Amino acid sequence: MSSLLLKNARYIITQNSGREVLENKDILIEGNTISEIGEHLKGDEEIDCSRNIVMPGLINLHTHSAMNLLKGYSDDLKLVDWLSKKVWPIEAKFQPEDVKWGSMLAFLEMVKTGTTCFNDMYFSSDIIAKCAQTIGIRGFIGYGLIDLNKYGSGFDEEKRKSELKETLRIRDFIRSMHDSKITFAVAPHAPYACSEELLLKAKEIADNEHAPYHIHVSETKKEVSDSVEQFGKRPVVRLHDMGILDSNVIMAHAVWVNDTEWQMLKGTKTKVVNCPVSNLKLASGIPPWHGLKEIHAGLGTDSAASNNNLNMFEDMKMAAIIQKLSVGDASLVTAQDVLDMATCNGADALRINAGRIEPDKLADIITLNVNQLMINPLRRDNLISNIVYSASGADVHDTIIDGKVLMRYRKVLTVSQDEVIQKANERSNILFS
Ligand SMILES: [Zn+2]
Repeated sequence: MSSLLLKNARYIITQNSGREVLENKDILIEGNTISEIGEHLKGDEEIDCSRNIVMPGLINLHTHSAMNLLKGYSDDLKLVDWLSKKVWPIEAKFQPEDVKWGSMLAFLEMVKTGTTCFNDMYFSSDIIAKCAQTIGIRGFIGYGLIDLNKYGSGFDEEKRKSELKETLRIRDFIRSMHDSKITFAVAPHAPYACSEELLLKAKEIADNEHAPYHIHVSETKKEVSDSVEQFGKRPVVRLHDMGILDSNVIMAHAVWVNDTEWQMLKGTKTKVVNCPVSNLKLASGIPPWHGLKEIHAGLGTDSAASNNNLNMFEDMKMAAIIQKLSVGDASLVTAQDVLDMATCNGADALRINAGRIEPDKLADIITLNVNQLMINPLRRDNLISNIVYSASGADVHDTIIDGKVLMRYRKVLTVSQDEVIQKANERSNILFS
């Protein structure tokens, strides 16, 4: 088994249980795993990290990768108009090549801005899985299940059957890839877009496959009032009463969740993803910090059509500062809190052995150069603060996923950046012509 040594790291942000920061230590990676942290270690290949901050790769817990092709297409609209009048009609025109190059552009952006793992919901998920494999990123891939009829007035049984068939096809496709980095997820779009039967069937598949159940819930105030009107229950209560809430459920947004519902989420160990930039841009709202904190929420960008990038550094900063403003208390959320959201909390939600730098963890690691302008002056005591509030994704220097170096000195080694940008532009020009 070949080994890789990150030699003499200036700082290591471990994110271990004591949130230790180590100085001038080596990290030995054997295969896809961190095997040892110490001094004077030896490896087959060595990377000098004496001028690097080494930290766990960021985990984007909610995204729709292929929508990178729709960047800047439908800004400044209400969510309901954004989705039904702009996004869904253009997506209906998507060809396989659009999904491919939208996804390649997304994964390139992720690797270059320090994201080592993502949780995706979209269609043509086999193409997305292949793209993730090509670039070498870790990903959870879910096909977005919807059985709402085209008039939005009821649910369509035939559609439900074909949607479930497609999700099983994606499961089989991912199995056939034999790639431990690519994992099948079940992804019913939302309680308003899926019948009760589909929500329950999807849960059955997720449980049988030990797969995450990835769903949008209570993103807008209107979604909650519509649910109360239609079903007599708020969305979280509805899912709870259906017996769906569980530790494999990853709920994106959870903006409009009341105290009773937070208790339900906590009691059932349901996972939540905060998507602050998307929630602000679509004016959806701000979830209460006490809920996010208690439940150890993760962090997601949502798609580049509502963010409009996949730069998790931006979402970390936004997650902290918007909560401070929201409750009028600047001491409420710390830089360490949001770094946890983007690393260990995301890993725990996906149940992967990552998000921390310690022996036996997956070697999903990023480095930043200590000489980058925006993070200086740099000291041990302002290190975490500068990572969260001052750094940008463009400061990421190297990206290692599953023990393999995917980016070195900001150059991605597995794909041609020029080709990806050129192809994405070609597809975008055809789509919008
Ligand atoms: Zn979303």
